[in-house]
Amino acid sequence: MDKNLDIAIAGAGPAGLATALYLKRAGHKVTVFERFDAPKPVGSGLILQPAGLTVLADLGLLDDILALGSRIERLHGTDAKSGRTVLEVRYDARRGRRFGLAVHRAALFGVLHRAAAREAIAVETNVEIETLEAGERATLICGNGKRLGPFDLVVDASGARSKLRRYLGNCAKPRPLAYGAFWTSLGWRDGFDERALLQRYDKASIMVGVLPIGRPEPGAADMAAFFWSLKPADAEKVRAEGLDAWKASVVSVWPACEAFTGQIDSFDQLSLARYGHHTMALPAGRRLAVIGDAAHSTSPQLGQGANMALLDAAALSHALAQANNVDDAIGIYASARRWHVRVFQALSLSLTPFYQSDSTSLPFVRDRMVAALARIPPGPQFLAAMVAGTVIDPFRRIGLAELQWPVAG
Ligand SMILES: Cc1cc2nc3c(=O)[nH]c(=O)nc-3n(C[C@H](O)[C@H](O)[C@H](O)COP(=O)(O)OP(=O)(O)OC[C@H]3O[C@@H](n4cnc5c(N)ncnc54)[C@H](O)[C@@H]3O)c2cc1C
Repeated sequence: MDKNLDIAIAGAGPAGLATALYLKRAGHKVTVFERFDAPKPVGSGLILQPAGLTVLADLGLLDDILALGSRIERLHGTDAKSGRTVLEVRYDARRGRRFGLAVHRAALFGVLHRAAAREAIAVETNVEIETLEAGERATLICGNGKRLGPFDLVVDASGARSKLRRYLGNCAKPRPLAYGAFWTSLGWRDGFDERALLQRYDKASIMVGVLPIGRPEPGAADMAAFFWSLKPADAEKVRAEGLDAWKASVVSVWPACEAFTGQIDSFDQLSLARYGHHTMALPAGRRLAVIGDAAHSTSPQLGQGANMALLDAAALSHALAQANNVDDAIGIYASARRWHVRVFQALSLSLTPFYQSDSTSLPFVRDRMVAALARIPPGPQFLAAMVAGTVIDPFRRIGLAELQWPVAG
């Protein structure tokens, strides 16, 4: 196929920037369109799993991200009342010495964005893409009526609230989940495990979490992502009751968290994250490939979203290199990602209520079963593969080989 396609990418998040890097390097002409006036990361921290780290290594960016992130060896959850361990997942339960890498969003964004700048990839800001017209080629239509293109291929990487995917007609939009969370990034404090995501729960209606996320940029101080589960519908009530009342609730669940709540002076420091869930049956149409959260969004309970976005980027690039024409490539991409996406979306949807819901029976089961599963083989290996993103192999069909572990870092 022609190696010099004219490709438009909507959205400069992890999916869009990683795709831009792959496709520019493959010889295509790439333009990224971003609605913000300056590309920027949104939100606090996230965990790059072994699957996502494999893609970053493939892009030659592993050392850059390792230098900023915080190596995570285990996920550990405790029942707030009894102090019992109810979740223990160790990455190294699987072969090799795998780990996750928790990063500030600005760190991931910065690594990808700097790489895009080095390769002179055009990023046009203040452009809100609304829809497209596709024929022999595709023309993008912006919110202000401006027309862009024509392009040989449009990649929709505009996140969970994508407008562009509506062009495909009858496609699912995210169904809001009952629970979301307050998230913030704060200064790291000693006394917490630097190598673990730590969570405390009271049933499934209360959860507080601390994740060491390293530095947003080289030379900055170490930080933690701090989160408190709540229903977005209750956020106004919580704010009305006042910051001190909220801090008291957090500290009653996990007293040591005073080290973090003490750094919060205003609700303005807390972002309210709303979660939704959707999986597009076919993230593809004429001249259009939908990737990342635009194609499949979910709660972050399993920590896979950014990793799946990176895998989608690698898959689309691989498909374009294999196919004879653009529409075949879009089909190959969709088929290569189909089962991995479906399995992880199903796992996320079914596991989230065990950690975020009003149910009393689900956390009862969780506190007994997950703890037992974490001890008896092959339970630890399954849990490790689940968080790593490798319960089914995401690599083979997209032309990647998993990172060789151990990885220095
Ligand atoms: C609180 C929280 C915690 C999370 N934790 C994890 C975790 O631990 N691990 C993990 O892997 N994932 C996690 N995720 C999920 C992860 O953040 C997403 O899956 C990931 O950001 C998806 O990347 P994306 O590039 O597809 O979309 P986004 O990151 O949403 O990027 C979309 C980009 O498109 C732009 N855009 C939107 N609309 C338009 C338009 N019309 N025109 C032009 N540009 C547009 C946006 O401004 C944005 O820059 C978490 C999510 C949340 C909310």
